Parts: sequence; structure tokens; C-alpha cells
Amino acid sequence: MTTLIRLIKIKYSTERGLPVIFANGRVLIEKLPFYLFAVLKSMPQKADITLILLAVILVAACSGQLCGQAVDVAIKAVPQTEYVEVTGRFADGGKDVRNLAFEREFAGVAGLGERISDVSLSAADGRKIEVKAFAPGEFAAAEPIAGFSYRVRLSPPKLAGQAHVSWLKDGRGIIFLGDLLPLPLGSGDPSARVTMSGFAGVGPPAGCIADVKDAAFLCADRSNGVIPISTGSRDVEAGNGRLLLRIEGKWLFDDEPAANEFDDVFRHYEHAFGGTPDCKPTVTIMRFAETAPHSVWEADTRGCSIVILSSDTPFRSQSLQQLGNLFRHEAFHLWFPNGVKLSGRYDWFYEGMALYMSKKAGLSLNRIRFDDLLSSLSTAIAFDRTAPKGLSLASATDSRWENSTTLYARGLLAAFILDVELLKRSKGKHSVESVLRKLFADHGSRNAVKADATTAILEAFSAFDDTGRLAESLLNRPEPLDLTNTLENSGMEFSSRALVVRRDPSGREKAILDKLGYNNWRKLSSR
Ligand SMILES: [Zn+2]
Repeated sequence: MTTLIRLIKIKYSTERGLPVIFANGRVLIEKLPFYLFAVLKSMPQKADITLILLAVILVAACSGQLCGQAVDVAIKAVPQTEYVEVTGRFADGGKDVRNLAFEREFAGVAGLGERISDVSLSAADGRKIEVKAFAPGEFAAAEPIAGFSYRVRLSPPKLAGQAHVSWLKDGRGIIFLGDLLPLPLGSGDPSARVTMSGFAGVGPPAGCIADVKDAAFLCADRSNGVIPISTGSRDVEAGNGRLLLRIEGKWLFDDEPAANEFDDVFRHYEHAFGGTPDCKPTVTIMRFAETAPHSVWEADTRGCSIVILSSDTPFRSQSLQQLGNLFRHEAFHLWFPNGVKLSGRYDWFYEGMALYMSKKAGLSLNRIRFDDLLSSLSTAIAFDRTAPKGLSLASATDSRWENSTTLYARGLLAAFILDVELLKRSKGKHSVESVLRKLFADHGSRNAVKADATTAILEAFSAFDDTGRLAESLLNRPEPLDLTNTLENSGMEFSSRALVVRRDPSGREKAILDKLGYNNWRKLSSR
């Protein structure tokens, strides 16, 4: 129960590369990101309400004492093994803490609780207290817990999952504090002070501040703390020091072009959304625990930290392109959902929008062709038509594990429809960027009050050309989306199962195509 309550608070995004999908010998969509959000997957839909109620009760019951769950921990590598030993204490002496709970499943990687062993608990006076394990990763004591120690086996999961959970192999790996440290229960203080020993090539951490004098990491929210372990990594600053890339080993791309690419993407979104998230974004680029086939990747964006585990592309010429594709998608998540204070599940919005905005950014930065956008949309239309009967975007969000294809494909189409409608209705004055900018302005600041995401998103669309009702109908439509009205007077049409630019678009249609990035190549090359 506590684990689930914790999980509904976490904002993160995980993606995975699937094999390239070919049709008629052409690449239609280079990567279909695959979302692996496993939480609630085995629960009936009504359970959502129960969980929220339980969370509300717990939060209401959270006195000042119970909330004090900041931890001070030492993580020690056990030499020549994949084990770490963690010893720590609750910063305020535990007081009313009587449970020690760990993440049991994250982003589709199960069995995390089973990795925890040799749990020992102590009272405030140092006396050892009895521990009861009632499920893997869930421990209880009969009296308040002040101190704790345990071992964690960090053998890597199979390829899938290595960008999402902690692992160590042959002295390298990645530590996600979220699955290594006790979860803060209810609305407990999520902060941690962490010291590490026995590792070579530690950090710098993402989501934490390195206190050099104290040789410790101070993490405001331990669920966002990410610490790479590798002696072969180097730090590459970008954007005059406001961005950091931590790159491990040799790749087919060079450091400087990679740093510039991330800076270009970051500046593009900064301009589009009218501000930056309140932190220093870090990108960690590492290889998997074992040798992987070409062009396999997995990415995770947590707080301000992007983790990319990848193999090289077959050819040098594709290497920076693959990285740029990942940057454009993952960097979007630094703003949405991670940079806004919105609650509730709204994957339907930020995953579809991430796919769409990464294409628009690619066009604007002249990294992809307009045809690439059209072929991705054509593929999404084909995928959307295979959606289970009666499934809406809203219900695909609730059952994202089973329905990720519909969620991504229909989410992309919804973003496109809304963009074209905004452009048409406002004669090119508004676009989805206007809505995203409003959302970020209203909900992105540190002082913003948490609002319900879907309500806020529909309100933001309502502020522009009456598109709120359209957004709501796209969200609730139980059938594949229909693009007929949208394509009318847009300069695009559906022909031979593919979306194409009309042969002879009118002046107004040309203006819309232009806003979507159709002529960007010409504009850039004529400079
Ligand atoms: Zn995503």
C-alpha cells in the first residue's frame, strides 16, 4: 500500500527503443518509444479512487513527527561483488516511523524488494529491535525505528530496465536512490544525505548537491537522485555551464557536437515554452551492463536528470542523429511533466505531445524533413486503427502498460490535430506552443500550487480559440481519431494510406504548412 501511494506522487518518464519498423522497405517511424509504467497494472480501475482516498487519509494523519523521514545514509560497495551495504538513520531519530518500505517494482522491472536482505533495525538508544518482513521490501517493527542497515543485490536486470533501476557490474553501473533507500511514507520528508565508499568513479550526482567539504551528497528528493558509477566518464559542460553531460567511454559521436546538440534542443524548448525548469539539467550517457546490439537504447527522465543507456549506431553518420532524437523527446519531459506542478495521470498529454514537439523541434532545428513528420503521423494513424474497441485516450492512460501503442500513437495524433486546429482558427497566431507556454507560466514556478492536470490542460486549451472542447472530445473519444475535419484547408491530405502535402495548396494552406515547418529547409538553406 505504502509503495503504491508513493508511486502516484512520482513524476518520471521512461522510454525504451524498439526495433526499427519498416514498411515497403522504408523506415516509417524510427523509434516507437515504449512506456513501461507498471504501477496499478494488475489493479481494477476503481482502485485508483481507493488509493487516492488512502493517500488523503495518510496525508491527513501525517503529524509533524511522522513527516520527519529524511535519511542520513552511507552506501558501501562490497568489493568484488554486486552487493552494496546501506547503513543509515532517520534524521529526526525516527520518532513514529515503524515501517521500512522499498520500491518493489519500477518501470516494469519487478522483484526489487527481493534484492533487499539482512535488514537490521535499531531504536534511538542503539538497541537492536525485532524486524518483521511481511512482503519483499516491506518491513515492520514493534517500536519506532531510529537506525537501519541492509544489503542490496545490484545485479543488472536484463537489457530492459537498466536505465530505470540501480545496478552494478564489474565496478560500473548506476545508482537510483529511489530504489535503494527507504521510501518516505505518506508525505514524509523525501530528502537524504548520502555518503559513498568503496566505489571508483562516483558521480557527480544528478538531482543532488555534492557537498565537497563534507564528502556527502545532499538530495532534496531522494526519488530523483541518480549517481552514475564509472571510471571512464567525463563531464562536458554545455550552454555556458547551465547544462551538464556526463559521457562514458568512446562513441561514434564527439563530445562537443553532442553538447551543442543538447544545448540547441534545450534552447529551442526554452524559447517555445517561455522559461526553463528550476534546476540544472544533467544527461548521463552510458553503455549497458553488457554489450548490446546496434541502436538499442533506453532512456529515463527523472526530475532534471536524463539517463540514456545506449549502444552505438552501425554508422558514424547516424550517431548524433540518434542522440538528437533522444534529446528532443527526453528534454521535453524536463518541462512536461517534470517542470510543472500538475497532479493526476496525464500521460495522454505529455507523451503524445513529447512525440509531436520532438518532431516540430527537429523540423525547426533542421534535423529532420517534413516527410519524417508526415510518415510518423501516417504510422500513428495505422496504429491507432488497431486500438482495442472502446478504448479512449483517457482509458489508455489508466491502462498504459497494456495500451502503450494506442497511448503514443493517438497521443501524437491528438497533438497534431490540436496544433492544426489552433493554427487554422487563429489564422496562424496560436499553436500548441501557445498552450504549452501558458501551462508552464501558470504551473511551472516554484510557488505554483498543485493543480489537477487534466482540468488545467483543458482550461489552457479553452483559453485559445475554443479548443478546450476539442481537446476533451479527443481525450474521451472511444474510437480511433478522425482527421477529416482537421485536414480540410490544412494543405495536407490523406492519399494512398499516407499523409501528404497537397499538390497545389492555397495561400492560406501554405501559411499553415509554413508554421508547421514545411519550408524550414528552404529558409535555412537560402540564408
Ligand atoms: Zn516520453
